[in-house]
Amino acid sequence: MDQEKSSQTSSCMDDYDPQSLSIDDAIKRIQSAVTPIAEHEAVSIKDALNRVLAEPVHSFINVPPYTNSAMDGYAVRSSDIPLSGEKQLKLAGTVMAGKPIAQRINAGECARILTGAKMPDGADTVIMQEHVTITGTHITIGNRHRAGQNVRHTGEDIAQGQMVLTKGRRLTAADVGLLASLGVTTVNVVRMARVAFFSTGDELVALGTPLKDGQIYDSNRYALTAMLQRFGANIIDLGAVKDNRRDIEETFNTAARQADVVITSGGVSVGDADYVRETMEKLGRINFWKIAMKPGRPLAFGKIDHCLIFGLPGNPVSTMVTFYQFVLPALRKLQGESATEFMTLQLPCVTPLRKTAGRVEFQRGVMEKNRAGEWTVKSVGGQGSHLLSSMSKANCFIILPMECENVEPGTVVTVQPFCGLI
Ligand code: AMP
Ligand code: MG
Repeated sequence: MDQEKSSQTSSCMDDYDPQSLSIDDAIKRIQSAVTPIAEHEAVSIKDALNRVLAEPVHSFINVPPYTNSAMDGYAVRSSDIPLSGEKQLKLAGTVMAGKPIAQRINAGECARILTGAKMPDGADTVIMQEHVTITGTHITIGNRHRAGQNVRHTGEDIAQGQMVLTKGRRLTAADVGLLASLGVTTVNVVRMARVAFFSTGDELVALGTPLKDGQIYDSNRYALTAMLQRFGANIIDLGAVKDNRRDIEETFNTAARQADVVITSGGVSVGDADYVRETMEKLGRINFWKIAMKPGRPLAFGKIDHCLIFGLPGNPVSTMVTFYQFVLPALRKLQGESATEFMTLQLPCVTPLRKTAGRVEFQRGVMEKNRAGEWTVKSVGGQGSHLLSSMSKANCFIILPMECENVEPGTVVTVQPFCGLI
């Protein structure tokens, strides 16, 4: 942390220009305060999807474990491929996948072989079945074959002893399949981060209760739950807390005792009437930042003991944007992930965008293919930070840099997609 416990007189904003902090600086300060979780646990590869490896995985075997055919055809000796004209070879046996044969293929012989079947001794080349003529107990082959063709060699994919997956890797579906191909049944993964969160605000009511005048449903907690489910955290939902000192303090204490990270939404703006800021300052070492971005300008970040605290702004779009841009990289580091950068693309924007210089904007966009089959991006329309439907319609952020002003249609912009394959 770059700041000692603050008090009413020495505000957390004293250590920098309160006008604004850049996104990069905020991310740097946050990331430097995060220590990766050290505990790990063994899990079955069936439960390993999306978990982060606590140690590298090496292969105990060669993959493929034996040299085998890549085709249905005939296993031959390359020295039997004629230089010109054709040659007859005697059928000496058949090899099916899973049923290797002990018989050796001698000069002038071949074996019928199926895809994945072990190459018989003596043979080093497979001729596709479409390229031979069968006559009784013999086949005829031509001269246009390459020695060693259509054969998959022992260890060609992975050699025994080779490091296959690195520490800090978040396991994908392909990784789970790869682990199975190595015969690995369990892997050591980093313990899942425990993330507690609660909403604050007297206007919030729980789902299932009819709204009275001046009330809204607490949507942030559900969006946070969903984002954390996708990340893969142990979620501790502490509900919606009224703007009252005692409840907020009690909830913070409960949260910080059991979680690695506590996220709150609402109550961090300057001049807020509620007690979130006050309580954060009392219990921990918290910075209140005005970040040069839209949406999501106010952000509180710090620690209560060893627990990381994120006070996100309450407007639903701001909550989501600040979660993605600040909390997610921190969670990834906490979780021991080696890669924490998000993918961005450069796409032409087909709609005009309104933008003021002096802050980075995360506008909600839709990536889509145009009639010519090229990917483009367009604005979802209204960009107010209270318009949660704009997030729902969007499939990406259009990130407009600090100095950028209004964007004309056709301009290439930076796009951050929400997701890829699954
Ligand atoms: P605040 O950051 O507390 O000043 O809240 C900013 C705006 O976000 C206000 O309009 C709040 O009503 C709204 N808001 C705060 N928390 C939530 C929540 N959990 N769900 C939906 N809207 C919220
Ligand atoms: Mg509030």
